[in-house]
Amino acid sequence: MKRIFIGITACIILTSCGNHTKTTDKTEAMSNDDSLFDNFKQQFVDDLWKMYPSWASSQGYHKYDSLLVVPNEESRAKELAFCKSVELMLKIVDLSKLSDNNKTDYYMIENQLNTTEWAINSCKAYEWNPSVYNVCGEFAEMLNNNYDTLPMRLHNFYLKMQNIPAYYEAAKKNIKNPTKEHTQLAIDQNLGGVSVFEKDLEDALKKDNTKKEIADGIRARAKEAVAAIKGFADWLKNLKNETPRSFRLGKELYAKKFEYDIQSGYTADEIYKKALEHKEELHKQMFELTKQLWSKYLADKKMPENKLEAIKMMIDKLSLKHVAADSFQIAIEQQIPKLVEFIKQKDLIYIDPSKPLVVRKEPAYMAGVAGASISAPGPYDKNGNTYYNVGSLSGWDKDKAESYLREYNHYILQILNIHEAIPGHYTQLVYSNQSPSIIKAILGNGAMIEGWAVYTERMMLESGYGNNEPEMWLMYYKWNLRATCNTILDYGVHTKEMSKEDAMHLLIDEAFQQKAEAEGKWKRVSVTQVQLTSYFTGYTEIYDFREELKKKMGDKFNLKQFHEKFLSYGSAPVKYIKQLMLADSTYIK
Ligand code: ZN
Ligand code: ZN
Repeated sequence: MKRIFIGITACIILTSCGNHTKTTDKTEAMSNDDSLFDNFKQQFVDDLWKMYPSWASSQGYHKYDSLLVVPNEESRAKELAFCKSVELMLKIVDLSKLSDNNKTDYYMIENQLNTTEWAINSCKAYEWNPSVYNVCGEFAEMLNNNYDTLPMRLHNFYLKMQNIPAYYEAAKKNIKNPTKEHTQLAIDQNLGGVSVFEKDLEDALKKDNTKKEIADGIRARAKEAVAAIKGFADWLKNLKNETPRSFRLGKELYAKKFEYDIQSGYTADEIYKKALEHKEELHKQMFELTKQLWSKYLADKKMPENKLEAIKMMIDKLSLKHVAADSFQIAIEQQIPKLVEFIKQKDLIYIDPSKPLVVRKEPAYMAGVAGASISAPGPYDKNGNTYYNVGSLSGWDKDKAESYLREYNHYILQILNIHEAIPGHYTQLVYSNQSPSIIKAILGNGAMIEGWAVYTERMMLESGYGNNEPEMWLMYYKWNLRATCNTILDYGVHTKEMSKEDAMHLLIDEAFQQKAEAEGKWKRVSVTQVQLTSYFTGYTEIYDFREELKKKMGDKFNLKQFHEKFLSYGSAPVKYIKQLMLADSTYIK
C-alpha cells in the first residue's frame, strides 16, 4: 500500500537500496537469533515481491516484471492474509536477542504490516482516491531504464499490458464517493501518461528494430491499454458523484497516518506546535537581516512598521535576481559540479564520483505535483540511472513563469539543488544504496529522507556556502519557513478545516511565497496527507540530534564522520538511527 501513496505524494521517488550480503562480513560471530532473523527477512522480501510485482520492479527486482496485479477484493484479502502470516512469524522472534540493527528492521517490518492493514481496513484510499490507479509510470520505467535488453523489456511490457483493462475495471468497482480533487488528479495523470503507450512505445519499437509481426502484436495490445486508460478518465469525468468525500483526512485518520508514515518520536500535535514556534523564531531572524540589508537595496523607500511587510519587500527585491525561463534546466545542470567542489573543499561528506546524476525534463506522467524531484535506481538496479527531474516552463504564460522564476530565484535555486541533489536526496540515496539492510532500503522512512535534505540546506550555509551573505541567509530562512509552514498547512487543512483563504494568507503573507507556488501547494495539500510534515519533522529531529552529539563528544565531534555514519544506516526513522549511533562505542568514544 505504501507504494501507492508514494506515486502521488513524494517529492522524491523512494527507491533506496541494500546489499544484505554485507552483514556476513562482520568479524564477530552472529548470534543464532540474528542469523535466523536474516533468513526470515530474506523470505519476507521474496514474498513481498510476489505480492507487489510493481513495487518490486520499481526497486530493480525484475523477476515479476510481466505481472500487473488487478486491485480487487481478492488481492486485498491476499494482502491482509500476508500481513497476518508475517505477524505470526514476528511473534515468535525474541526481540531482546537481536542486534540493534535487526531490532530496527523488526520495527520497520511491523510498521509496514500495520500500515497496510490500516490502509485497507480504515483509511480506504482505494475507494475515495482514484489517482492511486495509474499504470503509466511503471510502464514508462520499462522503456526508459536499461536494466535489461530492450527486446526482453518489450516482451515483459507486452505481457504486463494484458491486465490493464481488468485493472481499470477493478478500479471503477472500487471507487465510491471519491473526492473531487483526487478525481481530477486521476484524470490529468492518466491522460498525461497515455503517451507512454503511443509515442514512447513507438520510439522503443523503432530503436529495437522489432520484427513487424511482433511489433504489431504489441501495438494491438497497447491500443487496448490506451482505450482502457482513456475509458477510465472518461468514466471519472462522467461519474455521478453527489456526495463526494472531503479531501480533508480528518483528525483521527490523520493522527494514525502520521504515526505510521513518519514514525517520529513526536505526535502530530506536538510537531504542529513546534512548527508554530519555529515560524515565530524565523520571522524574528528575518527581520534582523532585513534591517541590515535595507540601506543596500531599498534606501529610497521607507521601511514599513509591519515587520512582515518589511521582510516581504526585501524578499521581493532579492527575488528579482533569477534566470530566464529557457535556461532554467541549464542553470541547474551547471550548479551540480559547483556543489560537489564545495563539499570536497570543506570536507563535509564523501561523494562517490562513479554515480552520475542525469538532469532531465520531468516526464509527463509525473507532472502536476512537484517542481523538481529525484528518481534513483532501486536496490537491485546497480546500473540504473539516477535522474534529476526538472519541471519544464515551456507553454506557461509569461506572468505564471515570472512568478515561478522569482520563487526559484538566484538564491533559492541553489538551495533547491542542495536539497534535491547534492548533498541532499541524491547523496543520501547513493549512501542508502550501500546500506547493509534490505529492509531499510525498501521500507525507507520519508521523514528521515526529507529531513536529511532539509538538514543539508542549513548545514551547507553554516559551512560557509554562499559566503555567509545576509541575502543568502534571508532567502534560506524563507525556504526553511516553507518546510515549517508545510507542516502548519498540512495539519491545519486536514485536521482543523483550514480554509483556502487562510492557507493563502499563511503561504503568501507569512511564508512570503509567490502566488503560483502557493496555488501549487494548495493543490498538493488537497491530494496528499501527512507527507508535507515529513520535511520539518525529520529536519528537527536530525538537527537536534547533531547538536546533542556535539555537546556530548566535544573535541571528538567531526562533521564529515557524523554525516557518513548517520547515512550508513540507510533510510531508517531518525529515532532508531539515533538509538544505534548512541549505542555504538566505536563511534562515541
Ligand atoms: Zn523577472
Ligand atoms: Zn525533498
